[in-house]
Amino acid sequence: MQIAATITEIRALVSQARKAGRTVGFVPTMGALHAGHVALIQAAVEQCDFVVVSLFVNPTQFGPGEDFEKYPRPLDQDLALCRAHGADAVFAPGRTEMYPRQNLTWVSVEKVSEPLCGRFRPGHFRGVATVCTKLFSIVGPDLAFFGQKDAQQVAVIQRMVADLNLPLEIVVCPTVREPDGLALSSRNQYLSPQERKEATVIYRALCRAAGLIRAGETDVAKITEQMHEVLRQVPALRIEYASVADAESLAELRQARGRVLVAVAGRLGSTRLIDNVVVDVGAH
Ligand code: AMP
Repeated sequence: MQIAATITEIRALVSQARKAGRTVGFVPTMGALHAGHVALIQAAVEQCDFVVVSLFVNPTQFGPGEDFEKYPRPLDQDLALCRAHGADAVFAPGRTEMYPRQNLTWVSVEKVSEPLCGRFRPGHFRGVATVCTKLFSIVGPDLAFFGQKDAQQVAVIQRMVADLNLPLEIVVCPTVREPDGLALSSRNQYLSPQERKEATVIYRALCRAAGLIRAGETDVAKITEQMHEVLRQVPALRIEYASVADAESLAELRQARGRVLVAVAGRLGSTRLIDNVVVDVGAH
């Protein structure tokens, strides 16, 4: 596995692979890798000949007062995981390699970025869309792999790729969970043992909603009330939203129909947690 810290180096590695006729898969991450990231790497290794993983804690997607400084950066461990799971190259640039000057050019995806997390993290998706555009332009992959765990990020990136005719395909991989249902996240390591136990309430609330929808309930007011009933079991959870939305446009629904995104975000102590499930109402 080769490690590139500069744009010139990673471009040279990818161009060599392309000359050898290999297809290129790309897994963008912020590092602190866990089994959720590993599933993306494995999917990329299965579907592509040459797999690039990026490790970059992107400052432009963090708001003031968020956890940019304390975000974990276990580089050696991350490199070992990438190597063990068959990545061909890692792109691990420093901050000034990616942002050598004041950034004046931004990619903003309207509407899809606005509800859900967009209301609580202003500027977040602009940072995500901008860094992904830069990374896609640097790496030039055929396929890029994203996790369903970050459903709004997926919707934003898919819309951006479609609107800007970017020459790659987005592959979405299922959310990887702990045995008790908690979605894996690099931020879970911030949780105290007590908070770690309480954090499972989010998935329980999502399952309550999904169960109701699968049983034929379409009234979103009733579904969200049921989610809140579950979430109230943990008074320490400061709920940001418990939402039922269209899975593609992310528009809030009054009646559950089509592909429905059920999503929850909240804070336990200083840790922000998000999770979601998608229910295809037409299929039941
Ligand atoms: P991050 O390092 O948090 O920016 O995440 C990098 C990629 O891993 C994103 O596409 C995430 O959606 C994905 N990811 C994070 N957690 C999970 C998970 N539990 N299951 C599947 N994918 C995940």
